[in-house]
Amino acid sequence: MPYMRSSLLNRNRRYPLGKETRCTRHCYRFFVLAAILLGGVTFVSAEGDERVEGVINRLKSLRNTDASLTKSESWNSLKKQFDELQKSLPQGREKARLLFYRAVLFEELGRRGGDSLNLQLAAESFLNLSRSYPGVDLADEALYRAILLFEGDLRDPQKVVSLKEELSSRFPHSEYRFMFSSQVGGKGASHKIISRYSSGILPLVVLDPGHGGDDEGAVGIAGLREKDLVLSISRLIEKYLLESRCCRVVLTRERDEFMPLFERTAMANRLQASLFVSIHINAAEAAHDRVRGYEIFYVSSDANPEAVQLVKRENQLGVTQKAALGGFIQDLYRRGASRVSAPFAKAIFSSMKKEFPKVVDGISLQARGVAKAPFFVLFGAEMPAVLLELFFVTNSDDAYLLSQPSFRELTAEVIATSIANYVKQESVGER
Ligand SMILES: [Zn+2]
Repeated sequence: MPYMRSSLLNRNRRYPLGKETRCTRHCYRFFVLAAILLGGVTFVSAEGDERVEGVINRLKSLRNTDASLTKSESWNSLKKQFDELQKSLPQGREKARLLFYRAVLFEELGRRGGDSLNLQLAAESFLNLSRSYPGVDLADEALYRAILLFEGDLRDPQKVVSLKEELSSRFPHSEYRFMFSSQVGGKGASHKIISRYSSGILPLVVLDPGHGGDDEGAVGIAGLREKDLVLSISRLIEKYLLESRCCRVVLTRERDEFMPLFERTAMANRLQASLFVSIHINAAEAAHDRVRGYEIFYVSSDANPEAVQLVKRENQLGVTQKAALGGFIQDLYRRGASRVSAPFAKAIFSSMKKEFPKVVDGISLQARGVAKAPFFVLFGAEMPAVLLELFFVTNSDDAYLLSQPSFRELTAEVIATSIANYVKQESVGER
């Protein structure tokens, strides 16, 4: 697929810091300096504590590079750093974040070492955090993760019952309630949703607006940025899906923030989603500015080496992740991910083709087709998963359309209708 090469090369390109970001950084330095001069030494600001960020990042990278506790020295020194930082931090959101990831650290250690003491410690730490910081945005997830630990590894069913009640009463609007709730819930719109399924729970669709934060995705004509467009379209899809009452909806990111690729499908798996839909905007090299239209991808295990190279670039993987790619593809093959995703991709595509008008604002819409490729963001999804590439920001017709709010509304409505049709046909809720 020659068009893939050009579009993949351009996508996910990182751009130098813009003026605004530099200003923010500058102001931040000034703030820290002023704080030191005033005698109250603090590194806490609206951007967060750099030391907390540092240990969390070290944990994430260790988690990704050491699957089996072979670097025990690194784990021990990281644990020490967490402990020391915890003592010096004042009460507040940053401390809550640190405690959350400290619990994650215990859980990782417990899993790697098959060590129930660390798992117990993780569960208690999640629980304590959730109760001592009920107002922070991690409080519901912390409680949820404690429940998972007590339910799975620690096998404490009585505790699980009471903690599930605690989750429902303390966080009635939390997405984590979806996991356990026997009634339908969701995002403040729960009262509108009527169950269509015998189980009483509507299927969950996870929408994944691509990129975010530092990762702008493709940048095209008139400075249109992929990360903004996909967030706007995803929010609209959510709105239309909730109106259609076919399913519950969760977004992997709700604002302009970076989220690692593997965490996106991990979230869908955790929530036992029925469908995963990643939303992207396409881009081509300058020489291919006439390339336009929308297309749908699903993961495939039969990627040739060249396709793997292309997608490695698109996926912006780190060294260890690249090494793991081969393993992922085998894993994919075993799971039969493309077998369940192909019919979903084809159904969505033919429905979109039917729902989209042929011409909008005098511009004809182009349907490119359904294709397969090993996109990293789709790996590991335990449900039908597709990646939508909605038009090209590098083509003047497509870029014009994408810049129009009314066209984004239309696109979102078409996608939502297509997903809803599929849900109704397949009763994907009975998973
Ligand atoms: Zn993208």
